[in-house]
Amino acid sequence: MELLQQAEKDYKNWGNFLDISGFMDKITTNLSEKGFERGNSRLVYSVCPDDVNRLQDLNTIEKALTSEYNNEFHLGGLGAYPMGGVSGIIAASHHPPDRILNGDRRGGNLIFFISPHFGLIEKENYLYGKIIRPGQQKITSSCGAMMGFLDALKTAGSPNNFDITPDPHTLDPTRMVLHSELINNYSDWLNNILQMDDPNDQVIDLFKLNYDLVINKIDEMIEEFLTLEGDHFEGDIAVIGGVTVNTVSGDNFILKEIKFPKI
Ligand SMILES: [Zn+2]
Repeated sequence: MELLQQAEKDYKNWGNFLDISGFMDKITTNLSEKGFERGNSRLVYSVCPDDVNRLQDLNTIEKALTSEYNNEFHLGGLGAYPMGGVSGIIAASHHPPDRILNGDRRGGNLIFFISPHFGLIEKENYLYGKIIRPGQQKITSSCGAMMGFLDALKTAGSPNNFDITPDPHTLDPTRMVLHSELINNYSDWLNNILQMDDPNDQVIDLFKLNYDLVINKIDEMIEEFLTLEGDHFEGDIAVIGGVTVNTVSGDNFILKEIKFPKI
């Protein structure tokens, strides 16, 4: 709880800071009001593959949400980038349980959960982007993909000098796409991050950027999905967006938005 308050202070007015039960109360209330229920909806996750988000021994946001809504269709790659793309969304759209309205059976809803993640620990000081994982004593990065990118960016000195290592045999597809998107679309923002003096401030801003990248991409993908499949897809769409904060004692969530692109 103390870490949540610290993050809330450091993130200023960026989002609504919630523990797991606060998050679940808010989500289930908001979704129920709009007719999204376990029995008529499928979750679609765009979260990072990092196991810190779903280990059995940890209290995670992801597990709370999947338990409530009967698991999920998985769209996310490293850094929560929606690697499954429009094809993934089209596939997911065929999977929700039906909605029964006045005896009529219609296609069910999709609930997107969009969340980059970062670790937060307290040693002598607060450390953003770091975590101590179950069974370990060492400190590791969380999100490793984004923190690795930040280190490489610092070494390069600027987005202009950042060489995206080629991947001619498609052995590292998410890294290629993630780095290309970051370097090609966020160079001004990344330059601002490089100019910050405090490493924590850099990490805090990096995950705002990570969220911006992923939510904008999801918005575009949903729009494209509706262009292609809007005539066939009978359900409604909800999007829950924010950033998961991994701590040793369990996750917290910075809820940025709940929106309904189709209802
Ligand atoms: Zn990650």
